[in-house]
This record gives sequence, structure tokens and C-alpha cells, in this order.
Amino acid sequence: MSRRNKLYEGKAKVLFEGPEAGTIIQYFKDDATAFNAKKKGTLSGKGVINNIISEHIFTALGDIGIPTHFIERISMREQLIKAVEIIPVEVIIRNVAAGSICKRLGIKEGTPLPNPLVEYCYKSDELDDPIIAEEHILTFGWADELELEELTFYALRINDFLSGMFAAIGIKLVDFKLEFGRHYEEDQCTVILADEISPDGCRLWDMKTGEKLDKDRFRRDLGGEMEAYQEVARRLGILPSADVTEIADHLKKEG
Ligand code: UDP
Repeated sequence: MSRRNKLYEGKAKVLFEGPEAGTIIQYFKDDATAFNAKKKGTLSGKGVINNIISEHIFTALGDIGIPTHFIERISMREQLIKAVEIIPVEVIIRNVAAGSICKRLGIKEGTPLPNPLVEYCYKSDELDDPIIAEEHILTFGWADELELEELTFYALRINDFLSGMFAAIGIKLVDFKLEFGRHYEEDQCTVILADEISPDGCRLWDMKTGEKLDKDRFRRDLGGEMEAYQEVARRLGILPSADVTEIADHLKKEG
């Protein structure tokens, strides 16, 4: 792990001071949590796979004009990113009903939604990330009107792009979570995509078999998490030639 100053440790990632002002190193851990960290585990090699999947997706999004915090991947578990002030709102985009919306509204899992549905949750571990309305975001000043409009526009554009990208490799993008941040450069403040996009924060179902290729395997004790994550990377054409579990063991030995 980086010898640099630790800035923040989250459930799946650690942030370290970057080499230059305004940069940060994002380190991907193998730790897995679910149900707001009530369930914990380690998936050997997950950090390596999520790092390359997220790199691939953020690069592709950058290529279609979505501003992101991603600068470059610098090692098997680390990427250099732009420092941002995280907007405390998780943006969830749903194409098919699954997870919390099924419980909340009594909808059967797998029901296709007539249009992509954008939901917002307040980012707070103590409160279990409660679902909120746009009015809460504006009332409490978590984002202003322009920022909210912009991040919602980006979220829908990202959904269109990623739905197509995954469909092309036989995967249905059921839902996913995005986080955005404010990036300050000179006198400018812009909203950019932050955090990660990986099977940890997406629901990905095989189009033919319906098999789950995401963190629901861990949440629901289905097993085969790493095989599923590697299958996503393999279909994206970015699986490292060596087995990630071996890479993870090797990195552990190196310290
Ligand atoms: N999600 C996430 N982090 C969260 C909450 C949700 O990455 O703190 C992702 C989750 O993996 C899924 C989507 O957002 O792809 C929708 O999650 P949902 O609201 O159904 O909640 P969950 O079933 O995860 O409790």
C-alpha cells in the first residue's frame, strides 16, 4: 500500500495524498461490506479487478465527454485522481426493479421499468443512506439547482452509454450508484464524476441466464463473487492475464 499520508479510509477504498496539489491516490481494498457494513468479508483480488473495471469505464466515459476525477491507473490497486469535494448525495439509476425499490414499493424483482428511474440518497452511514427527494437536496443545500440538474443529466447519459456497453457483452445493467464531486480549478468549480464504477456498486445480470455478476453474490451468500467479477472484466476485454487471486496473494507478500 502507498507510504503516503492517509486522508480517508472508506469501506472499500483508501484515499492517500497525491504527488501534486489537487491530486489524490485512490487505493482499492479487497474488503467487502453489505447492508451498511453489518455484513463484512474479504474477497481476495476484488480491489485489483475493481481498479481495472473502474479505470476502463471512467476512461470510456471521459472519451464521450463526461468530466471525471480519473487521471490514470498507477498500480494494480491504485489510481491517481483529481481531488474533489464529494457532494453528499448518492445517485441511483434503475432500469429494472431490484434491491431496495422492490422492498420499498412491493415490486417484483426483475420488472423492467418503463424509463430509467433516478433516485437520490443522502450519504450518511449513521442514517443508512436514506432516500431523499430533490427538494431535500435543495432545502438542505447539499447541491444547488444547477449542480442537481447537471449531475442528473450526467447520470442519465452515463446510464445510456453503460447500458449499451454492457448489452454488447451480454450483460443487463439493472441499476447502479454514482457519486459526484465539486472540482475547483483556478476560479472555476465544476461537477465531475467521482468514486468508482464496478460490480460493487452495480447490478449486472447475464442476459441469457439471468446469473448475477455483481455484489448481490456477496450480499445473498451466493458464492463465486470473484469468478463473477472476473467474468465481467473478461467480457470487457480487460482481464489481466494472471489470475487476480494470485496477484492479490503476491501483492500481500510484497507488503
Ligand atoms: N448501491 C451502492 N452503494 C450504496 C447503495 C446502493 O453501490 O450505498 C448500489 C447497489 O449496488 C445497487 C444500486 O446501488 O446496484 C441500488 O441499490 P439499492 O437501492 O437497491 O440498495 P441495496 O439493495 O444495495 O440495499
